[in-house]
Amino acid sequence: MAQIRIQNLRKEFGAFTAVQSSSFTIEDGEFFMLLGPSGCGKTTTLRMMAGLELPTSGEIFINGEEVGMKRASQRDIAFVFQMFALYPHMNVRRNIGYPLVSQGVPAADVRKRVDEVARTLRIESILDKPVGGLSGGDRQRVALGRAIVRRPKAFFMDEPLGALDAEFREHMAEELRALHDRIGATTVYVTHDQLEAMQMGDKIAVMNHGVVEQFGLPQQIYDWPATRFVADFIGSPPMNFLEFEGMIGTGGDHVMLGDTRFAVPVQREGAEGRLTLGVRPEHVRFSDSSTYRAKVIAVEYLGTTQIVTLTTANGTIKARISSADRVLSDETVGLEFNPRTLTIFAGDRGQALVSEVNEGVLRRG
Ligand code: ATP
Repeated sequence: MAQIRIQNLRKEFGAFTAVQSSSFTIEDGEFFMLLGPSGCGKTTTLRMMAGLELPTSGEIFINGEEVGMKRASQRDIAFVFQMFALYPHMNVRRNIGYPLVSQGVPAADVRKRVDEVARTLRIESILDKPVGGLSGGDRQRVALGRAIVRRPKAFFMDEPLGALDAEFREHMAEELRALHDRIGATTVYVTHDQLEAMQMGDKIAVMNHGVVEQFGLPQQIYDWPATRFVADFIGSPPMNFLEFEGMIGTGGDHVMLGDTRFAVPVQREGAEGRLTLGVRPEHVRFSDSSTYRAKVIAVEYLGTTQIVTLTTANGTIKARISSADRVLSDETVGLEFNPRTLTIFAGDRGQALVSEVNEGVLRRG
């Protein structure tokens, strides 16, 4: 079992910085997601933690011990790159047992451990089958079996479900999470899919251009994004951004969009200039009495809810409302936002300002 901590970890490839100084802690037994768009540095971070890539600077601790000088094989981590990579000439039992055989574990112990793993994965019935004829799901289970048979301290997985179609992917994601809960080993999982991260992760680190922009529980990251990037990357549709020129002082509790006053959580820090008010689509309400007017330009029916696209004086936004509510294209409506859910972003990187409701959640990269 393992607690993994990285401290100011950085990686340069020549003049290009793939990972800027990153720090976070993965607690023992956690299912931890490294989430971000393609090229943001997730794989490089994982490879440094595994000992497959040398950091330019910074430290990696496993259970409090600095492992920077340890080779990958000495870190006791199972790296699941690609679950379908099996030895085609061996049957299931030999595929799963192979890592133990190559470590010189006696045959009787290998047999016992493979039986245990097969029970955990519920694949006892296919142990004597050749891997060639197995279904995709069973091949994936066998590959996982080969990773868990060594009883490593932690599992590292890099987009393990990336090649699967959507339905099977969801099924395997549930299975992986259930397996994690049964064996309890720390898992670090790289993905660019925000839904996968939200569904499976105990904690998420969101990366962008080599920077960990936020790190926390899925709900914290969804409700209180630390930056505009995180707010935009998480959620479907993403958070709405209403841009305005103005100011909010420390202790301030409202902003003005045109002539309309919007209550916001009491601010612990102020800002002025080009600001952005962030509101999730489900927190936009229609209200006849609001002086903040918007025009409906599209309505997308989704069963229980509908997504309404609106133009406002501060940009185009989307509202998620009940399908029972009647709304028509081209009509003009008044808008209200749930005040406790609003975030103000400012600064070069669109950092969320600290308020009485998000303090303690925001982590500045
Ligand atoms: P993806 O999901 O596309 O793999 P990622 O977030 O995992 O993206 P990385 O693979 O960590 O991203 O790559 C981060 C950046 O570092 C990319 O711009 C990549 O081109 C660059 N990079 C990675 N490895 C090397 C290398 N060995 N030499 C030079 N540049 C590299």
